[in-house]
Amino acid sequence: DRQTYVIANWKMNKNLNETAEFFQKINSSQDVSVVICPPAQLLYPAHLMIKQSGKPIGLGGQNVHWADKGAYTGESSGSMLRDIGCEYVIIGHSERRQYSYEDDELVNKKVLHAIKSELTPIICIGETLGQKNALQTEQVLEKQLCGALKDIDSSNFILAYEPVWAIGTGQSATAELAGQTHAYIRSILKKIIGEKAEGISILYGGSANESNAADFSAMPDIDGVLVGGASLNAQSFDGIINVFA
Ligand code: 13P
Repeated sequence: DRQTYVIANWKMNKNLNETAEFFQKINSSQDVSVVICPPAQLLYPAHLMIKQSGKPIGLGGQNVHWADKGAYTGESSGSMLRDIGCEYVIIGHSERRQYSYEDDELVNKKVLHAIKSELTPIICIGETLGQKNALQTEQVLEKQLCGALKDIDSSNFILAYEPVWAIGTGQSATAELAGQTHAYIRSILKKIIGEKAEGISILYGGSANESNAADFSAMPDIDGVLVGGASLNAQSFDGIINVFA
């Protein structure tokens, strides 16, 4: 049976006070793996707040560099993230592909580095609206997946299917479309890593919220959600956690 995850990607949102307020309000759950990915500056305080709360909540970065250390201004390594309490890191989010020009090759280097650093990468893939309309979804996902997983000999990773057209738009994929796409992703994954593909959690992301979470959770190949906007409010996020718990 696969692990179910409800993961918050706060993106570039919240300050210290808002973070403290969030961890006071959130109820979390023992029955699902809950992970919060705050901005880099809030990771260590968030780690302390989680520890103090005693709540079963994991912590993840939103980005990582591929080198162990060195002259890379503004970057953080996997061991730095581990050192301040992270167990996870998001890699290859469409916003980083778009605004920071990350390509499949760079994503792959980061994934290899994360695994070496004993972080669990949350690897994001997804097609744009143009690619969807051009009926290229399957080939885009296969290319992103094969690219990200090149030379990986570990099954310690999580996948997130985030159709770019559904991110921040309020227009989520239907559970049916997402369910079909997740099954396709798992079939490609099987070609890459064999039967271990059955054990890999594949999360849906893109305008997931309290109202549509139950539809996604009902699909056999959807093993949780990666939540942006609806993760900023503790009550909404708790609502989503409860659906998957
Ligand atoms: P929204 O939930 O705001 O659409 O963002 C999804 C996302 O990009 C999570 O990584």
